[in-house]
Amino acid sequence: MQFLTSWDDGYVLDLKVADLLDRYNTKGTFYICPHAQHSAEMMTEKQIQDLSHRHTIGAHSLSHPHLTLISKERATEEIRGSKQWVEEVTGKPCTMFCYPYGAVNPQIRDLVKESGFTGARTTKDLEFSAPDPFLQPITLQIFPFPYRRRLQLSWKVLDPLGPLRARYLRLQRLKTPHSAMGSWMALAKYLYGYSKETNQPFFHLYGHSREIEMYGMWGELEEFLSYVHKNS
Ligand SMILES: [Zn+2]
Repeated sequence: MQFLTSWDDGYVLDLKVADLLDRYNTKGTFYICPHAQHSAEMMTEKQIQDLSHRHTIGAHSLSHPHLTLISKERATEEIRGSKQWVEEVTGKPCTMFCYPYGAVNPQIRDLVKESGFTGARTTKDLEFSAPDPFLQPITLQIFPFPYRRRLQLSWKVLDPLGPLRARYLRLQRLKTPHSAMGSWMALAKYLYGYSKETNQPFFHLYGHSREIEMYGMWGELEEFLSYVHKNS
């Protein structure tokens, strides 16, 4: 069972993630978009190049569009242009792509494959294997669970248990005990144990450093990386 991690967008806080990964002898793939997201501070090209000596850098489009909602020509530019950009910044081949917002359809998947990548990651969660290397799912996102931690507009205000509700059936199929649904850490440890016991191909943790900061989850990330390090 392989323990994989990936981190999206290229925020400067990714360097803090990388330091934690190094401390627990874990590798990460950082999917970086040159266009700033959420007006956040992003890594400089120099920082990305330095990071590429310790971890993998993947492409994540040029402007972070929903690739399924733009023309084939623009999608091609976004996909190929981002590969070229990463290769120029790092001086290394860029083999992995990550679909912004996880938005992908069969045409976009094929376009990524034809652009010379060897694989691509989605945001589909609670999975432990990737039958299609161009539709690689993840296992768990580091994100508030089971409750939303901030009130948001719209119906979500009325549904604080939304993150759990959306995943309940799948978690049941994974035989998740209710005790493991009470916190992000309990769920992460349960799913990691499940992936080991059932001999799955991988456990893939993914996240956004900006959200880890926003939701105050640095301690949880470190605790989980330490747990995996001790139990691998
Ligand atoms: Zn993104």
